[in-house]
Amino acid sequence: MTPVSIPAPTEEAIAFYKSGNILWVIHQLLTLLLPLAIVLSGISKKMLSFSHFLGKNKCLTFLLFFIFYSLVIAIFSFPLTFYEGFIRLQHYGVSNQSFSRWLTHYLISFFLTTLVSFIVFVILYFLIAKSPKRWWLYMGLLAFPLLLFLQVIYPIYVSPLFNKFGPMKNKVLERQILTLADKAGIENGPVFEVNKSADTKMMNAYVCGIGSTKRIVLWDTIIDGLTPKELLFVMGHEMGHYVLNHMWWGIGTDAALIFLTLFLIHLFSKPFFKYGSSWMGFNELKNFASLPLIMFLYAFFSLLFLPIESRLSQMKEHDADRFGLEITHYNQEAGSAFLKLTKSNLGYPYPGKFFMLFRTGHPSIGSRIEFFNTYHPYCENKPSKYQKYFKDHIQFPSHDKME
Ligand SMILES: [Zn+2]
Repeated sequence: MTPVSIPAPTEEAIAFYKSGNILWVIHQLLTLLLPLAIVLSGISKKMLSFSHFLGKNKCLTFLLFFIFYSLVIAIFSFPLTFYEGFIRLQHYGVSNQSFSRWLTHYLISFFLTTLVSFIVFVILYFLIAKSPKRWWLYMGLLAFPLLLFLQVIYPIYVSPLFNKFGPMKNKVLERQILTLADKAGIENGPVFEVNKSADTKMMNAYVCGIGSTKRIVLWDTIIDGLTPKELLFVMGHEMGHYVLNHMWWGIGTDAALIFLTLFLIHLFSKPFFKYGSSWMGFNELKNFASLPLIMFLYAFFSLLFLPIESRLSQMKEHDADRFGLEITHYNQEAGSAFLKLTKSNLGYPYPGKFFMLFRTGHPSIGSRIEFFNTYHPYCENKPSKYQKYFKDHIQFPSHDKME
C-alpha cells in the first residue's frame, strides 16, 4: 500500500479551528459566569420569592422557579447558541439546515433538556432535604443508573424526533455491513439510514443500544460520501466501540466523575454560604435559590475534569481504530476515508495542546492517518490484538462485488 499523505489544512479549516477555540472559551465563560451572577446578585432569591408568590405550595413554587431560571439562561445564551449552531455553520458551508428546521430542533432540545434536568433537580433537592450531609453520596450512586437509562432511551425515542430513521437503501452494502457485524460477534442488530443531509454536510455513523435495542446507524451523508470499503472501515471502528464495551466504560467514568463533582459541590458550597450569604439572600443548599450555585459549581468542576475525559476518550478511539483495521485490513481506505472526513468536517490535522485537552475526544486526524499508514500486523504475520473477538469462520471481505 502507498501511505496516505496528510494534507496541510485549508485556509477555511484554519479559520474554523481558531475561531472555534475562541468561541469555546466564550461559551465556557458564559456557562460559568451567568449562574454565578444570578446567584450572587440575589436575583435567584428574588426569582424564588416571586415563584412562591405565584405558586404558593412548595411543588408549584419549584416548578415555576425552574422554568423562570431556564428561560433566563436560554434568553441570555441565545445569541451565542444561534451563532454557534446556525450562522457559523452556514458561513463555513458545512450546514444544510434551513432556519425553521434549526429553530424546531433548538426548541425540541430545549424542552427535553429542561424536562430531564427538572426531574434530576427534584430528586436532588429531595435528597438534600432528607440528608443535608450525605445527599451527594446518594445522588452520586444514582448517577450510573440515570446515565444508563438516558443512554438506552436516547437512540430509540429522542434521535428520531430530529431525523428520519429508515432502512438502508443500498442492500448490497447493508449485507456487507451485516457480514462485518457477524464477524465482530454483533448479531441481530438492524441497520438504519438517517436523513442527516437535511441538517449537515458532515459525516458520521455509530453502533449503539443494549440487548434488543442494539442498532447500527449510518448518516446518509457518509453513505454518499465514502466508497464501500472506506465505509466498512468506519463501521469496523464503530463496531470496535461496541465490542470493546466502550459505552459501559464511558458511563462508568462519567458516573464516577459526577460522584466526585457532587462531593466537591457539597464541600465548596460551604464557603459561599459563609462569606456570600448576605449577597445571595440565603444560607443553605436546601433552599431552591441555590440552583444557580449548584449549576456554577457543577460547570466549574466538569471543566476541571474535562482533560481526563478527553484523554480517556482518545484512548478508546485509538483502540477502535485498531479494531477497525484488524477486522477489515483496509489501511489504505481508512486513510482515504479520513481525508474525506477532514474535508467534509473542516478538520485540522494537527491541533494544539489546548484543543487536544479540552475540545476533542478523538486523537488528532494527522496521528490517526499515520497509524493507518503504519499499523498492519496481518501483513507481517504478527498476531492481531483483537483477533480473539473475530468469528474466524465468517469470510470478510464478503464475496459481494465491492465498489
Ligand atoms: Zn469512535
